[in-house]
Amino acid sequence: MAWRCSGKTNVELIDNLFKNGLITSARIRDAMMKVDRAHYCPSPSYAYEDSPQSIGHAATISAPHMHASACESLLPFLKPGSRVLDIGSGSGYLTAVLAELVRDGGKGGRVVGLEHIKALKELGEGNMEKSERGMEMMSTGLVEFVVGDGRKGLKDEEGWDAIHVGAAAVELHEELIEQLRSPGRIFIPVEDSDGYGDQHIWTVDKDAKGAVTKKKLYGVRYVPLTDAPLT
Ligand code: SAH
Repeated sequence: MAWRCSGKTNVELIDNLFKNGLITSARIRDAMMKVDRAHYCPSPSYAYEDSPQSIGHAATISAPHMHASACESLLPFLKPGSRVLDIGSGSGYLTAVLAELVRDGGKGGRVVGLEHIKALKELGEGNMEKSERGMEMMSTGLVEFVVGDGRKGLKDEEGWDAIHVGAAAVELHEELIEQLRSPGRIFIPVEDSDGYGDQHIWTVDKDAKGAVTKKKLYGVRYVPLTDAPLT
């Protein structure tokens, strides 16, 4: 599958993902076309392949079809003006794509990338600053990167319409559910409780009345959501 979805340019890569059904929403295709994956990959020559890459600190930038799938799942909550928390922002690539999806003519929308390793928080910022558009998204406050423990989320009076978790949790952290707006959705990889080390994507939905529904979706392999390493 991967070879068919690669490209010589960012546009070609995203176009191939769309043609092969790995992106089904035109809104997501357009957002991913606006973010040059080469700005977020340590090896730009492999940036337009549908594969993950190590970004140091035991972290990886996920394959673009995985980022697309996360966006597809959160899409009903990614409207112009929405507020999104991206936990384990790593390279900052998905943070930038999410920002493209919620930007509202420069007036509204907010995406916060939350990372527990300061060097990776700075990597995300630096990667965004490689483009005029990324720089503008940071200077207007549409995007911000913050250091903190993602298992606790990020307390904010206004709450979050969507929370993306980019590393595998051992549980559906209650604090994240509390910080979710009504309605809102969390996308989170979680380790199975049987001890065999498998992981599945879960979504946690809060409806307009505050009722919470949890769904187990498909099997995945993410790096774990952990304590920050000692520096
Ligand atoms: N979405 C990122 C994924 C990076 S890999 C990308 O595609 O580039 C997962 C990230 O989660 C790593 O950057 C890691 O440092 C971060 N992480 C792990 N545990 C965390 C925690 N408790 N709080 C915040 N970030 C965490």
